[in-house]
Amino acid sequence: MHDPDSLSSKKIRLPVLPVFLLRPRPTPRKDFSERAMPLDTQRAVSYRSRMSEAKTYQGSCHCGRVQYEVSLDLEKPVLACNCSMCGRSGTLLTFVGTDSFKLLRGEESLSDYQFNKNVIHHLFCSTCGIKAFARGKKQTGEDVVAVNARCLEGVDVGALQVQHVDGKSV
Ligand SMILES: [Zn+2]
Repeated sequence: MHDPDSLSSKKIRLPVLPVFLLRPRPTPRKDFSERAMPLDTQRAVSYRSRMSEAKTYQGSCHCGRVQYEVSLDLEKPVLACNCSMCGRSGTLLTFVGTDSFKLLRGEESLSDYQFNKNVIHHLFCSTCGIKAFARGKKQTGEDVVAVNARCLEGVDVGALQVQHVDGKSV
């Protein structure tokens, strides 16, 4: 009574195309990660983008002869400069006023190196050679301290925002 061939061909041919077209599209990966982000993280991110305030950090050279305490805001990008000095030493700098910086020990261990216009004192520990900070002047004549974020305790430098400065061309 039934023609088995026509029945099976109907069963196969007819449903195949519509089912393929109606298959729900895969949810984009982006949606998954956003949904997976805990609510408190989302809140922290928006809090961070609104607020920015200075925290106190301890900084030092490698051997510990030079130690300082500094109050600064690491939510702001640190500067990576490609000039002949910074390009070689790889410092990640952030600038603070002298009132935010306190040298706890090591003034006598600091060696001073200057070049070009001799505006900046490129200080380094005379024992271990690390450049934990530098002293300079703003264009206004105000004293400023350039802190090397790589020398701060408890700071994940890989997580910092880095602004690249083309000091080579200046
Ligand atoms: Zn040292």
